[in-house]
Amino acid sequence: MNSDALSNQIINGIKSIGINPTFKNPIATHEPFFQGTNATSYVNDCINSGWVSSTGKWVNKFEDEICKFTGAKHCIAVNNGTAALRLALHASGVKNNDEVIIPPLSFVATSNAVSHLGAYPHFVDIEKDTYGMSPEALATRLEKIVSFKDGKLINKLTGRRISAVIAVHVFGNPANTYSLLDITSKWNLTLIEDAAEALGSWNKRKTNSERIHCGLIGDIGIFSFNGNKIITTGGGGAIITNESYKAKLIRHLSTTAKQPHPWAFFHDQMAWNDRMPNL
Ligand SMILES: *Cc1c(COP(=O)(O)O)cnc(C)c1O
Repeated sequence: MNSDALSNQIINGIKSIGINPTFKNPIATHEPFFQGTNATSYVNDCINSGWVSSTGKWVNKFEDEICKFTGAKHCIAVNNGTAALRLALHASGVKNNDEVIIPPLSFVATSNAVSHLGAYPHFVDIEKDTYGMSPEALATRLEKIVSFKDGKLINKLTGRRISAVIAVHVFGNPANTYSLLDITSKWNLTLIEDAAEALGSWNKRKTNSERIHCGLIGDIGIFSFNGNKIITTGGGGAIITNESYKAKLIRHLSTTAKQPHPWAFFHDQMAWNDRMPNL
């Protein structure tokens, strides 16, 4: 599909549900809708229980539901999509002064999450068919700039280590994820999927005709549950992964890296409190 065909499909989809936007009458793309849900009774239940903060049954239930819906083995709910991205990068070993390859078409949070770790966003262009990062552009760019030094992948132009790639599923439209994975695997780079806008979007599996949820082809995927996303928790985000080790590390990092203990506060590294509140 070329970009005009994709745009027309989006516009026709909007028109097919009886909305005809104009500049004077634009569509509110991010208007949360709670009618017909039990949202207020759940909020009341939560307040009455006293468990409003970072632990509580609703967070666990929410994580289980995300696992069930997407097919992910692990889900860690956090306080927003940006924190989810930063945790995914942190758990993938992205460090101060590294470079992370990202597409230029995304919300600013994708590059901010890289910068929050002291790393540098390195932009590689998108493709017309998916609006996601172009596998051809990624392959060409890496061939051109990369060299190996002490077992590390170095950008010859800057001298910095390239440590990960983030694919973004723009407007819930899946990127060409398997082709991107072929390239990141070849160079031994972590592939993170920014599926902030893509809850309910699926890729076709490479090996059979089944589908696989966005976020599960790469090493780690993230969602946002901000008020303008597919579903909302007020503010919120989540990380999904099938890798137990990474899930455990992300949960640890999202909980101020505190070692489990009944009374002692021992934190084995610097980390944030990123958890989603029960409320
Ligand atoms: C919304 C969004 C984010 C960030 O999510 P927040 O919950 O707002 O922090 C990251 N990436 C993309 C592509 C987004 O659309």
